[in-house]
Amino acid sequence: MRELIGVEEARRLVLGAAAVLPAEPVGLDEALGRTLAAPVVSGGPVPAFASSAMDGFAVRTADLASLPITLPVAAEVAAGAVPERPVEAGTVVRIMTGAPVPEGADAVVPVEWTAEAGMGRVRIERAPEPGRHVRPAGEDLHAGEVVLRAGQVVTPPVVGMLAALGEVRVVVRRVPRVAVVTTGDELVPASATPAFGQLRDSNGPALAAQVRAAGGTPLGPFHAADALDALHAVLPGAREADVLVFSGGVSMGDHDLVRVVLEEAGWTPCFWRVRQRPGKPLAFGTLDGVPVFGLPGNPVSSFVCFEQYVRPLLAALLGRAEVRRPLVSAVLDAPIRKAAGLHHFVRAVARWGEDGRLYVRPSGPQGSNLYASVLRADGLIHLPEAADDPPAGSVVAFEPLGW
Ligand code: AMP
Ligand code: MG
Repeated sequence: MRELIGVEEARRLVLGAAAVLPAEPVGLDEALGRTLAAPVVSGGPVPAFASSAMDGFAVRTADLASLPITLPVAAEVAAGAVPERPVEAGTVVRIMTGAPVPEGADAVVPVEWTAEAGMGRVRIERAPEPGRHVRPAGEDLHAGEVVLRAGQVVTPPVVGMLAALGEVRVVVRRVPRVAVVTTGDELVPASATPAFGQLRDSNGPALAAQVRAAGGTPLGPFHAADALDALHAVLPGAREADVLVFSGGVSMGDHDLVRVVLEEAGWTPCFWRVRQRPGKPLAFGTLDGVPVFGLPGNPVSSFVCFEQYVRPLLAALLGRAEVRRPLVSAVLDAPIRKAAGLHHFVRAVARWGEDGRLYVRPSGPQGSNLYASVLRADGLIHLPEAADDPPAGSVVAFEPLGW
């Protein structure tokens, strides 16, 4: 078991415990937010046939050498119709947007460039270059092109593309089940009125929501008082999950019994305490190969540790291509005091400066019990443990929290 490790090592150890979950097929209407388990290849060219981009006339551009010219309209083709005949020399075919371009035609003259000439004829005033206003077959995708990769999250555009390809059954990763276990004698359910000295359990609902936002499904809620037997009693139910997340009870106090109970249950401890603020008492290990987190109970620590360690683990279980949110560079609007030797995650608001750069500053007082700083944050500033107090104007790494 390692103690007081750095954040990068902690993340590496957590990800080392991830085994990708099995795949399962789902209908396209249930696929949003799921993670593709296999690539998707386009079976044919998209679009499948050359079509008109405009309402107008399919023409042979060679016929339009001298303008204006009046030509007979030999046929008409609407969207969804099959052209009856090719465009013969010296004739045109009336065509609608999306209709297949008949053989022989090499461009479409928009209706705006023409005038009705009576007796089934049209007067053309302007000539398009060859190929103009025709959407060629395969312009969007070639046959056999890898369109979507395994590990990609199904977003609304992915749903649209899958539908265009006729992929109505989608192979995705099973949703990870995460048991959230809150601990603490002082906690009452959010629906209850706390007596003096008690407080509402906010980590339980917040962590369940974070699980959902990360693509998992919460099991529980489980709650245990700060007693060995109470903690042992929740274990069988919680162990049905793919990941166990305990909240609270992992610090140095006499009532911090989570690690004691995990020890008695035979877990393999991996690390305890990380050189970070907030969230230093974070504990991690495995129980029969199942990853188990002991998150510190302070609501800010619980939030940050979930986003920094549990969320990437869930992404790895899902086989996602990207397990971490991307960091961007930003300019500090205000100086920050940091503790030497700890990596800081600073809750921060962001704004675009008139110089086109992103500016960030703390979203409020940073105590690990002060949850409003999380509520107001657009993201987290990362200050590496070796960094000194950064002055205003310094460039920092910023992790936008997109929900
Ligand atoms: P602990 O890590 O158990 O020592 O808890 C640290 C602080 O977080 C204490 O002030 C707890 O009351 C608070 N806390 C622990 N669990 C929760 C929870 N589920 N919801 C809100 N606050 C909590
Ligand atoms: Mg506690």
